[in-house]
Amino acid sequence: MRKSLIIHPSELSIDWIDKAIKSGCNAIGLHPIGGENAHLSAEELLCDLEKKEFRKLIDYAKKSGLEIEYEMHAARYFLKEELFAEHPEYFRMNETGERTTDFNFCVSNEEALEIVANNAAALAEKLYGSCRNYYFWLDDVRESGCCCDKCKNFTPSDQQMIVINKIAKKLREIIPGARIAYLAYHDCLAPPKSVKPEEGVFLEYAPIEKWYGDNIVKMEELDGNIKELIEFFGKENSKVLEYWYDNSLFSRYKLPPVKFIADNELIKKEIKIYEEYGFEQIASFACFLGSDYIELYGEPDLSAFNN
Ligand SMILES: [Zn+2]
Repeated sequence: MRKSLIIHPSELSIDWIDKAIKSGCNAIGLHPIGGENAHLSAEELLCDLEKKEFRKLIDYAKKSGLEIEYEMHAARYFLKEELFAEHPEYFRMNETGERTTDFNFCVSNEEALEIVANNAAALAEKLYGSCRNYYFWLDDVRESGCCCDKCKNFTPSDQQMIVINKIAKKLREIIPGARIAYLAYHDCLAPPKSVKPEEGVFLEYAPIEKWYGDNIVKMEELDGNIKELIEFFGKENSKVLEYWYDNSLFSRYKLPPVKFIADNELIKKEIKIYEEYGFEQIASFACFLGSDYIELYGEPDLSAFNN
């Protein structure tokens, strides 16, 4: 089972890298902050990647045996809103019939798709030290698909699949063997209906709904959905992206971080269940557990991840 923990780029440190290794990780994931301004976080990441100190950390992680991955919401980063004045047809049509730059874009517009795929390929080449797994997710907002005449019959999952397929083809032209994740998350939890995955696409399942509100959804309730997804995408490279250590979620995405108590029994139990489904990779967000957290509360307990 390949394992990784995913943190914000600003949290990357020698200490975190050493901890990831001790926790049994094969990779460390860097995740620019998501939400409505994810495209700006992506720009910040690219600035970080130009810095010598940041590159040294990446080099240290790789020398220590970890692979590096970048997991990010990138749709609006790929199709810049400046294009709207000349090409409103590139952008999504909302429920009231207006073209808008707010999120995502029109997946039936070939030119828009071409721009997105080219920019994804260009970004992949800039991701310093990245292994060949890529995670270029659509915008981090529900109900943000295109409702134009051509797109309206595609489910949100179909719309994502169209985009990821296009990027997969382009990526594999410039980086042989590159793989890209389809993110089963939010309104893309169901498998696509009318679009099949291209070569190189793998499933990344991120059940954030489990963690909403007081009534945590139990694994048993997810069973049907997980089986459908695995049947559709296959087990090869399939990945779970969990929230067991996501102290940014538990802190409601606001600093300072809250004190984090790992539910070790739950984590061990769920890792086993995911293994039984046939997932080949297990990851968890582990944001808001960096040096500022340690100063406040001491070392977080990551022991259950390594069992
Ligand atoms: Zn459309």
